[in-house]
Amino acid sequence: MARYTGPACKLCRREGEKLFLKGERCFTPKCAMEKRAYPPGEHGRYGGRRRGNRQSDYSLQLRAKQKVKRIYGVYERQFRRYFEDAQKRTGLTGLNLLQILESRLDNVVYRLGFADSRSQARQLVNHGHFVLNGRRNDIASTILKAGDTITVRTQSKQNEYFKTLKQNEETKTPPAWVEQDVNNLSGRVLRLPERAEIDGNLNEQLIVEYYSR
Ligand code: SF4
Repeated sequence: MARYTGPACKLCRREGEKLFLKGERCFTPKCAMEKRAYPPGEHGRYGGRRRGNRQSDYSLQLRAKQKVKRIYGVYERQFRRYFEDAQKRTGLTGLNLLQILESRLDNVVYRLGFADSRSQARQLVNHGHFVLNGRRNDIASTILKAGDTITVRTQSKQNEYFKTLKQNEETKTPPAWVEQDVNNLSGRVLRLPERAEIDGNLNEQLIVEYYSR
């Protein structure tokens, strides 16, 4: 599946807020939003539409959608597919959409604390380090459900990265909808996350409005 390979910080600058795409670096003064908190590009700082001008409804909806896509590292086609799946489920479409995104294998790996960022989690998954319900799975977009278990592959447990991860177990606190077993480098999905457990200052209602135009 295609993924964005350009500079992550540019995405934060475009959205005008920290999206925390780079793990630890996002919490340091090296964060681009600490130094250049204006949109990227030639006209980002002084030219173009000035920030603070009233944004149209469409612009607000578009930005809300782009932000979520960028946080979860999903391109438009797949995002739209998720939205269509969310519409078919019972309940609120916006919440359904966020729950689908949260259920992606790469996101669960990130939530379990096995990676510092979703992009790192995706790379670990792509490199075949995880086993899902006993079978190796290297597809980051796999949607997990309650009861699914993921484990670091036996061979990968000898990897320096995972050895260090075990030693730092106390620094990783997962949300309540997943269960973590750092000693065994495994985890389990207990249920879908509730809205309050999904962070990021997201406005899923604007996304629903965007696709309902
Ligand atoms: Fe965004 Fe992190 Fe880059 Fe800061 S360091 S701009 S939060 S990706």
